[in-house]
Amino acid sequence: MTRSRWGRRWPRSGGQIVHSKRLTPSARPTECKPVAGPAIEAPDRVALVDSLDLDPSAHLDDLSAFIQASPSPFHAAAEAAARLAEAGFTMVEESAPWPTADGRYFLRRGGALVAWSTDGAADCRNGFTIVGAHTDSPNLRLRPRPDHQSAGMAQLGVEIYGGALLNSWLDRDLGLSGRVSVVDSDGSVSTRLFRYDQPLLRVPQLAIHLDRSITIDGLRLDPQRHLQPVWSSSPQKISTFRVWLAEQLGVRSESLAGWDLMTHDLTPPARLGVDLSMFASARLDNLLSCHAGLTALLARNSDSPQVPVLCLFDHEEVGSQSSTGAASQLLPTILERIATASGLSRDEWFASLASSMCISADGAHATHPNFPERHEPDHLVFLDGGPVLKWNADARYGTDAPGAAHVVSLAQRLNIPLQTFVSRNDMPCGSTIGPVTAARLGVTTVDIGVAQLSMHSARELTGVLDPSRFAMLLNAFYSTPVQAN
Ligand SMILES: [Zn+2]
Repeated sequence: MTRSRWGRRWPRSGGQIVHSKRLTPSARPTECKPVAGPAIEAPDRVALVDSLDLDPSAHLDDLSAFIQASPSPFHAAAEAAARLAEAGFTMVEESAPWPTADGRYFLRRGGALVAWSTDGAADCRNGFTIVGAHTDSPNLRLRPRPDHQSAGMAQLGVEIYGGALLNSWLDRDLGLSGRVSVVDSDGSVSTRLFRYDQPLLRVPQLAIHLDRSITIDGLRLDPQRHLQPVWSSSPQKISTFRVWLAEQLGVRSESLAGWDLMTHDLTPPARLGVDLSMFASARLDNLLSCHAGLTALLARNSDSPQVPVLCLFDHEEVGSQSSTGAASQLLPTILERIATASGLSRDEWFASLASSMCISADGAHATHPNFPERHEPDHLVFLDGGPVLKWNADARYGTDAPGAAHVVSLAQRLNIPLQTFVSRNDMPCGSTIGPVTAARLGVTTVDIGVAQLSMHSARELTGVLDPSRFAMLLNAFYSTPVQAN
């Protein structure tokens, strides 16, 4: 724990935060111009109150710790909550009256978390600076009745969550994590986190000798039949999954009412490449952005006038339509409760939204060296080429010119390069929480994130410089008056 020049306490593992130093320049300085694309009129300059500078290596170590602490969305929200609490944020219960005193707060709902600060100069009459990200990643999730046997082996039945690259889940040693709800003997219900980090499950690949067509037709996986993991070669000697889980939790098996459990790859994050210029890990999409937003919020300058808000939503990978997804009432309700607790009238609350802005922080596609033809040739994106502004004419991303101008202005003053992503016209564009949030709140929204390869693989790949650059950019966003509206 250290204390900043603003007297703020940092989390125990918040990376080594160093002010007034610059990052090592990118290896490709000539390829990373700030936002190549239509000319954007720069807004009036205002001085950055103070700027955060992070050591890239220490930030990466902290990102590794965050990812390993977060095998499921529920663990990600819990880890973020623990870091916020350690930094002095107070947890708010949704069902309790809203706190009227200025301060730093957070609220947790399942796999989602929202944190904000009304301390220092922050006043919601000046609007909100919102960073949104998502805690969930594609994976294999346990069925309600998972026990299954085939060919003399015990298996656990799984559903496929989100747009997982199915081949990436083959031949990996998998753990199990999530949450379990228990009905106690007095009828009360409790929910607890669960994680099992020993090699428990594996989806074995079919030997090539048994399907020679794979060399011609490629690997084809039937999601119903071919993704079921094995968990014992002696089904007659083991108990049911329910009994095993109850033993792990120390409860009666009859008391298990339900679970939200999922598999995770047990391989730890690693730097790789001859110059260690790359970083491989599970769940970079989108724990990298959750961690960047959290780092940015914890290091925010309390002299900035807007109320900073961090929203870590669940269920982005399946469309955000849930009580903890970006399409829910979660964020609008919290913003309104912050505003009314601060004494704003309903009209003043709507006025404050007009001064607000949202950054939707999510991964971006780097140009794949083996498939460059899959990318828009005038908008190539590189690992460690700088955070990527994502544009789409059909509004699958929220980025527009005034919003981008604000981000470009921040990046220029931080000397952080930016890149631009746009899809090919003959390839459907992905999406994220940006358009959903923009539609719910009606505030200027920019989609931006760190370039990565292998998105939606069980193990993804990014650069070693961009994670800290992104956190610094989000910190500047929290600390600078919005000029995008
Ligand atoms: Zn994502």
